[in-house]
Amino acid sequence: MKLKITCIPGDGIGPEIVAEAKKVLDTVAEKYGHDMQYTDILMGGASIDAHGVPLTDEAVETAKNADAVLMGSIGGDTTTSPWYKLPPNLRPEAGLLGIRKALNLFANLRPAVLYEELAQACPLKQDISGNGFDMLIMRELTGGLYFGERKTVEENGVRKAIDTLTYDENEIRRIAVKGFDIARKRRKKVTSVDKANVLDSSRLWRAVVEEVAKDYPDVTLEHMLVDNCAMQLVKDPAQFDVILTENMFGDILSDEASMVTGSIGMLASASLNDTKFGLYEPSHGSAPDIAGKDLANPIATILSASMMLRYSFDLDKEADAIDEAVKQVLRDGYRTGDIMSEGCEKVGCKKMGDLIVERIK
Ligand code: NAD
Repeated sequence: MKLKITCIPGDGIGPEIVAEAKKVLDTVAEKYGHDMQYTDILMGGASIDAHGVPLTDEAVETAKNADAVLMGSIGGDTTTSPWYKLPPNLRPEAGLLGIRKALNLFANLRPAVLYEELAQACPLKQDISGNGFDMLIMRELTGGLYFGERKTVEENGVRKAIDTLTYDENEIRRIAVKGFDIARKRRKKVTSVDKANVLDSSRLWRAVVEEVAKDYPDVTLEHMLVDNCAMQLVKDPAQFDVILTENMFGDILSDEASMVTGSIGMLASASLNDTKFGLYEPSHGSAPDIAGKDLANPIATILSASMMLRYSFDLDKEADAIDEAVKQVLRDGYRTGDIMSEGCEKVGCKKMGDLIVERIK
């Protein structure tokens, strides 16, 4: 298969971790007979330095012409970097918002996996975390409260702020379809999270999700109120497979789910549009404090590349090979500094990439 991939190395540790992910992808390509073609574009601080803006139209065009985008991370030290003296629309993060909008990425996927070998990093009690967990939060990214009309007014000398939460059925349907499609590639269970006991938007959400579920009789659907879900995530995380939810609930729950894994350098993510196209990136930032020192953990980016193979290219076998190689490296006792524990061997970013590559070959 011929795969056209746009890469955004970005800032900070971005170029280091993307280089390792490419190494892993090249190994998979060689083993399974694929042809990966990469085109790099600049975004964030790197683009500001070169072009004066965090994202150029040319860069967006290049991304649009690819089959998928693989990103490192963007941004610098927000207190010392000159990028943060610029107006907000010219700062590094504006590039990320700009590309998400230009590519119409409405579905955000964040897996939260507890690896047996990293269980000591999990802040939950052993009797809860003991069975491990492997869930994926599917969050609607372009609607709801964050994009509704808002205003602050003064009435009779009292300040009043108004935010509106709007969803139409098409917005709900397209994210629900993504959620069920992805559940089919996993353990075939969708937990749709809402606040249907209070909110009209949640009642419509629930109704549309149920309509979509009729096309997926092989997938189990359950509904859960968001407050209960927040509790269940720390009480019994192993019960979840795909959590399907709207923008603000997903924002909060995905951070909670990430936290219970305990290791930021391991967390992949993807943002998809209504075709197979997606932007794949680690959940962490550009870690300027460790940039250029060969200290970064490349695993979140490598797992993002694995998600790209699975969700944009349907190359499940190849994605499994990457996921299994990551697990094997952990089982063999290798760790980068952020996930280091007693008795393990500490390695740098490049070495971690090499070890994963060896296990794929
Ligand atoms: P961060 O995620 O970059 O770093 C938080 C801490 O985790 C740091 O101590 C860092 O060294 C460590 N860390 C992060 N990733 C790591 C990895 N792969 N391996 C080892 N250690 C790792 O968050 P921050 O410091 O708040 O933000 C730094 C910059 O990143 C800011 O400019 C922020 O805006 C940007 N940011 C970008 C994205 C993105 O590109 N999507 C996301 C979040 C933050």
